[in-house]
Amino acid sequence: MSSFESLGIRAEILRALTDLGFEKPTPVQEKTIPLLLTGEGDMVALAQTGTGKTAAFGIPMLERIDTSQKTIQALVLAPTRELCVQISRDFEHFAKHLTGIKVVSVYGGANIRDQIRGIQRGANVVVATPGRLIDLLERGAIDLGHVHTAILDEADEMLNMGFQEDLTSILDRTPKEKRTWLFSATMSREVRRIAKNYMREAEEVSMGEGNKANESIQHQYAVVMARDRYLALKRFVDADPNLFAIVFCRTKQDTQELAESLTKDGYNADAIHGDLSQQQRDRVMERYRSKSLQMLVATDVAARGIDVSNVSHVIHFDLPGEVESYTHRSGRTGRAGKTGISLSIIGVRDVFKVRNLERQLKVHFSYVKVPDGAEICERQLLTMIGKIKSVKVDEDAISRYMDAVELDLADLTREDLIKRVVSLEFNRFLKQYKDARDLNVDMASKDRNPRAGGQAREPREKSGFGRSSDGPMRSMFINIGTKDGFDKGKMLGYLCGITGLTGQNFGRILLKDMYSFIDIDSEHFDEAMGHFKNANYKGRKVRVDEGGGAATGARDFKADKKKFNKARYAGVA
Ligand code: ADP
Ligand code: MG
Repeated sequence: MSSFESLGIRAEILRALTDLGFEKPTPVQEKTIPLLLTGEGDMVALAQTGTGKTAAFGIPMLERIDTSQKTIQALVLAPTRELCVQISRDFEHFAKHLTGIKVVSVYGGANIRDQIRGIQRGANVVVATPGRLIDLLERGAIDLGHVHTAILDEADEMLNMGFQEDLTSILDRTPKEKRTWLFSATMSREVRRIAKNYMREAEEVSMGEGNKANESIQHQYAVVMARDRYLALKRFVDADPNLFAIVFCRTKQDTQELAESLTKDGYNADAIHGDLSQQQRDRVMERYRSKSLQMLVATDVAARGIDVSNVSHVIHFDLPGEVESYTHRSGRTGRAGKTGISLSIIGVRDVFKVRNLERQLKVHFSYVKVPDGAEICERQLLTMIGKIKSVKVDEDAISRYMDAVELDLADLTREDLIKRVVSLEFNRFLKQYKDARDLNVDMASKDRNPRAGGQAREPREKSGFGRSSDGPMRSMFINIGTKDGFDKGKMLGYLCGITGLTGQNFGRILLKDMYSFIDIDSEHFDEAMGHFKNANYKGRKVRVDEGGGAATGARDFKADKKKFNKARYAGVA
């Protein structure tokens, strides 16, 4: 592997890299930096999470800045404030020994006038979220007419967040002959779309196989009853006193609630998601970075691209809806050559999702058991003993108290004393886990070989027949049917996509030309209905209603039809 010197980087930046402890370039840096320094074209660079993409675009970008010009020459777009702050901080580190480089980051939720002043003081590099940049453009407070380098970091997430139009109008206001560089860990449909819409014959640099997961990450999964996931999470945390984790939930509300429950139960946890004020988000990130929080509970969006060192575990409290999200989530650990664990705590019915991830990401997930009470107590005890052995004693400071302390404890034997010291911290675990039950679902009794079994079961889940939920079912009417091109398989795929539920949550599906009935397990019925609130299918508003049902058979159809027709046409303009 080559050195940074041989890549053609100037001395001032080399010095900064040495200060940062970067000894040699990572593979993506080695490959892209020379191309970006000398070439003229656009670039799409794909490299795994945690492999130093920020420096890969940051260093050549800084090399291209003409500090004699007080104009904005480079623009970096990123989806969240946290990422903007992180990127500009990295840039400032790289540019430490360069004079005249001025990096300004702009994002929503902070004072726009301060940001405008920052820009007017002669920024030559701007790092921005699309929303705030549009604001600034609309106020005429920023001029992108001299941008020669536009960089899109985590661009697919910006599209996921609905910034498509903003991206278009921002890039439209930059010179045509600029260079555009896109960096991503995954090659998703969105990334392709961006490359197609915003770039000119971009060169594609891909490290290893596309979408390949980071090899420093070990993937694990534990299987419990869905309602036991919280208990299981606490056990994993209790069993590993050195755990420093990011826990992912699907929604902002779940994120908030999980963090609150953990806090109430005595854990050092807090949430980060888009409903918090910027101040709150800053405080949470600050506490997490400084390790005064043990767990950061996050949504996918809030944690995208975040680089905190030494995250030991990424925990999926809910599995993500998309494969790409799994990659981005798990990539918060195993960064900069370190190793980490990505642990999914899943309900029995989601085992097949793990199989899908295995297949699509080509990684192996190892099955792990939720620790039992005895294991947790043992691990805690060992840690405690380790702490006692390694604690530094400040002889001077405590000497003046020692006579009194010794006098007070004179009656206790050495054995008693040890027991008491240990109990001080340990009682909580003993009490909590005294009669702790086994949370693991016995996969062997479900199907002998969980690996093979999971795969064998899948086609049935897909079809929506055969085994379905054991619990009671309710039936949903929906105003789409065979005329809209659905068969049962397609319908199930569509339902799973919209609701986030799995094939096992659905029972019988009865398709008619203009409408259909679907059985959904009662537990998820209301939730599933809720997901259709703003649903459209091929431009038509999708309407759902609770209806007479697939399970009860066609007998009830006639009576129901009136109601359904009403539902179908009501509100259709
Ligand atoms: P990515 O964007 O690819 O996920 P980052 O750019 O956030 O990764 O970098 C991940 C971590 O690796 C950061 O903490 C960064 O400081 C560190 N890093 C980057 N390049 C190097 C290098 N050449 N040597 C050592 N550490 C590096
Ligand atoms: Mg990054």
